[in-house]
Amino acid sequence: MTDDPEETTAERKMRFLFQLRTRGVTDPRVLEAMENIDRGLFVRGQFADRAYEDTPLPIPCGQTISQPSVVGLMTQALAIGARDTVLEVGTGSGYQAAILSGLCRRVYTLDRHRRLVQEAEAIFTQLGLYNIIAQIADGSRGLPDQAPFDRILVTAAAEDPPGPLLAQLKIGGIMVVPVGQSDAVQTLIRVTRTETGFDYDELRQVRFVPLVEGLGQT
Ligand code: SAH
Repeated sequence: MTDDPEETTAERKMRFLFQLRTRGVTDPRVLEAMENIDRGLFVRGQFADRAYEDTPLPIPCGQTISQPSVVGLMTQALAIGARDTVLEVGTGSGYQAAILSGLCRRVYTLDRHRRLVQEAEAIFTQLGLYNIIAQIADGSRGLPDQAPFDRILVTAAAEDPPGPLLAQLKIGGIMVVPVGQSDAVQTLIRVTRTETGFDYDELRQVRFVPLVEGLGQT
C-alpha cells in the first residue's frame, strides 16, 4: 500500500488508524496517543513518503523505526497507568517514546547511539514532550539511578530478558521485550513481577534489531 499524493492529511490519518485497529490495536487510549503523534516527523529522507504505512523503515545508524501496529500492540500490552514511570530501551527514532509520553507521567528512553538520541530529543522539544528524558546509555543495564520502574519496554531483541532490567521492575510492574536470536523470528513476551517472582506470557512473533551491549561509535 503506497501513499496516494492526492490523499488529504485527514484521509491518511483515518487509514493509519484503521490499519492499527484491524491489526489488533483496540485500546482507545493507545489509539488516541497514536493519533496525536505524526509518524512522518520520525522518518526522514528517501523513506519519508512511506511513514504512514504499517511497516518498519530504516533510520540512521543501521537501525529501524518499528512497525506502527507492533508499537501499538506493545504499548497496549504494557497497560500503562497515567501516573507511571516508564523506561524504554532503544530510543531509535523516538516514535515509540513519543507515544508513551502521552500515556504516563514520565518516560526515560535510552539508546547506545548518540546521533539517534540527539535527533529524537530535537523532535521531543519541537512537539513540547517535556516528560521524556533521553540518554545515551547501554540500556541492557537499565537506569539504576531512576529505578524501579512501573513499566519497561525493550525495543531491541535480547536472547533473554536482561537481568538488570528485571531487577529494576517494581512489584506489580510489567516489562515487554522481544526475545530470541537476532537473525531469527523472535517472540514478544510480557513479564509481570509478582511478590514472589516473575510471570511470563508470550504475545506474538516479531522481528527486531538486536540489543547490543556497550555504546555505539556514532
Ligand atoms: N523504539 C524505536 C525503535 C528502536 S530500534 C523507535 O520507536 O523508533 C532499536 C534501537 O535499540 C536502536 O536504535 C538501537 O541503537 C538500540 N539499542 C540496541 N542495543 C541497545 C542497548 N544495549 N542500549 C540502548 N539502546 C540499544
